[in-house]
Amino acid sequence: MTEIPRPSADALLDQPPLSPAEVSALEQALGALLGTDNDIVLVQSEAIVALEAVAHSVAGPGIPALNVVTGPYGDGFGQWMRQAGSPVRDLVSPFDEVARVDDVVAAIRRDRPRVVSLVHAEAATGGTNDVAPILRAAREVGAVTVLDAVASIGAEPVLVAEWDIDLTVIGGQKGLAGPAGVSAVVVSPHAWAHIDANPGAPRSSVLSVLDWRDAWLRTDRSVIPGLPSWLESRALALAVERVRAEGLATVNARHAAAAAATRAGVHALGLELWQRGAGVAPVATAVRIPLGRREALQDGALGGILSAGVGVLKGQLLRVNHYGQAARPEPVNDALVRIAAAMSVNPGAALEAAAKIWGASGLPEN
Ligand SMILES: *Cc1c(COP(=O)(O)O)cnc(C)c1O
Repeated sequence: MTEIPRPSADALLDQPPLSPAEVSALEQALGALLGTDNDIVLVQSEAIVALEAVAHSVAGPGIPALNVVTGPYGDGFGQWMRQAGSPVRDLVSPFDEVARVDDVVAAIRRDRPRVVSLVHAEAATGGTNDVAPILRAAREVGAVTVLDAVASIGAEPVLVAEWDIDLTVIGGQKGLAGPAGVSAVVVSPHAWAHIDANPGAPRSSVLSVLDWRDAWLRTDRSVIPGLPSWLESRALALAVERVRAEGLATVNARHAAAAAATRAGVHALGLELWQRGAGVAPVATAVRIPLGRREALQDGALGGILSAGVGVLKGQLLRVNHYGQAARPEPVNDALVRIAAAMSVNPGAALEAAAKIWGASGLPEN
């Protein structure tokens, strides 16, 4: 049993209000983490709200969008753009495959959409899309690009500048081992021009990125608009600082090793990955539940860092959420032991296979 921590009133309640300097410092830390000088719009809510805000900001009547769907989040993003009035073409992959780059690039060149949106890593299905060539093709036709990097940031490189991404959405709660309550959008000048020209972009709304820009980013920054989440903002700053101190490359490497160790262990148990191709994610691994094993491996009843498939994926896969501080040997080994126990098999071979991966990774074995 994990002990539930009892934080002090000092830590949780009796803090001074968040200062403008702290907000600016958080933006700078996020910009440094992502290697970009572009504006950072903080969203006082979890990343799903930031995604909804972005969808409504870029979409509208007469703004055709091409939306790459490789999991539930991409599906939702397309629906929000449709709500906003855009004609949206969803390019849907089976959820056990990542996007087929050639097909997506061909569709972008043929349709010449004004918006191209896609998810980078899919925590829900354990896949990572090869986003660079898709973003390049989108740029070639002048489209505004939207990347949902919530599950990839911290777990693998998110190259905002090199890929020239217009709108990058991130959150703290996955690879950064931080809080879920404040998220961020990196906004390029090209994206601002597009959103400014969109008469439907939200104003006077919790979904408005323009409100935050005009009331904060383009001011002397002496007054923070509204009442920002003190605790979550400070927690996010702490999470980003911890990642910086460890080194983003090392944090990425921990995630890669955790994923590889999980895959090796799962194969040793005679199970298959959910992803059929090579596009497996460092953030989380999805394991296919074989027919006849539904009872044993059901619904995240297994505990630890294991969870059930959500929505249409329920009963079909088991997620190993080896992200953040769980991208380490102990939680991964614990997950393998739990899966082995549920299958009534000895975990020895799985643990041995996982140990080999950690050994070869050169990372500390704790
Ligand atoms: C986790 C995640 C999000 C954010 O979802 P929340 O409900 O805010 O936690 C968005 N996109 C992807 C791809 C994710 O994995």
